[in-house]
Amino acid sequence: MKKTTATERKPAQISFAQKRMRNLIKVINGASLRLLGLSDPENSRLGKLARKLPRPRKSAKGPDGLKRSKGLKSKYIDLSQFNLDPFIERKMVTRSFRIFGRIISGVIKSRRDYRKELASPSRPPKPAPREFWNEVIARAESLGIGLVGFAPVDENLIFTSDFVGKMNRLYANGIVLGMEMDFTAIDSAPGPEAGLEAMRIYAELGVATNRLADFIRSRGYRAIACHPLGGPILYPAMAVRAGLGEMGRSGLLITKRYGPRQRLSLVSTDASPLPETAPPKLGISEYCDQCRKCVSACPAGAVLKEPVAKENGIITRIDQDKCIGYFYEAMGCSICLKVCPFHQRGYDRVIKTRENSPIESTTTKKK
Ligand code: SF4
Ligand code: SF4
Repeated sequence: MKKTTATERKPAQISFAQKRMRNLIKVINGASLRLLGLSDPENSRLGKLARKLPRPRKSAKGPDGLKRSKGLKSKYIDLSQFNLDPFIERKMVTRSFRIFGRIISGVIKSRRDYRKELASPSRPPKPAPREFWNEVIARAESLGIGLVGFAPVDENLIFTSDFVGKMNRLYANGIVLGMEMDFTAIDSAPGPEAGLEAMRIYAELGVATNRLADFIRSRGYRAIACHPLGGPILYPAMAVRAGLGEMGRSGLLITKRYGPRQRLSLVSTDASPLPETAPPKLGISEYCDQCRKCVSACPAGAVLKEPVAKENGIITRIDQDKCIGYFYEAMGCSICLKVCPFHQRGYDRVIKTRENSPIESTTTKKK
């Protein structure tokens, strides 16, 4: 009698939830990636076909004052390259299914609302009083958003291609939003728990960003919700401008409240003037100069020893090709986040220790 192999037995052993998740993964890795525009538009068949089609005429009545990219290139992340198998493990499958479903519906909603914004007729902007911004902050907090900051949208930070949201125009002002990731899940990095936590925050922050944009529209202003997955603008740089924190050597935004443990999104709006913000002096780069734990801990050697300033004024801290290569394999990485003292001990304790004694750095240890 023929013996049954492990591979042949597998289909009978997987649960209904696992089958659903497998199907969802197939959808993510296959046709819907292209339908959502999540495949590489330069190389996909649909992308090539789309370039041959006549471009839609721009509406002469569309909204005024939209800002466009001045040429900043974004790194294409091929979501189909991720090894999503760990997410169909029994203990994760139900959570994974819910989270991935919420990401997809959040991206679809933000893209649909964006198209409606562009098609809506021009109208004179309405001044935004301080009370309105207080309402925005209160609404954001009620949606679970822990960080809210304001800064004008800088065209130099808008990408030429937003591979996920398909957005290339934004209103003049930005509301930068941040949501905290769970400490314990991130502390388990690298691995599926940490990867799924990042996905969970993409999903939750995406939903909250869409709802905040709905709220702003309901008050008579224009709003474009930029989903945290992908995005049309360089979020960390916008967050620094908005006074939320400073950039760490790891290329991650470091905030007083959560250290490097947040994901970011943005709502762009025509509401003006923005409330004034005074960027805090956190002393992150001085600390990083002596710490460098992320430089030595990165398994891909992707954290640059010294930041590199590009011609366009953008400062690079990470070799993105190396980082993304490892990211695909490990299904998220977050090691640079996990080893950061601002994650481990929190900003206040780290700075207090620094004031009392010199920094214990990996560089010093090696000497
Ligand atoms: S690990 Fe150290 S060097 Fe890296 S970002 Fe955190 S504080 Fe800066
Ligand atoms: S996410 Fe991982 S691979 Fe990328 S820079 Fe951080 S530690 Fe390195």
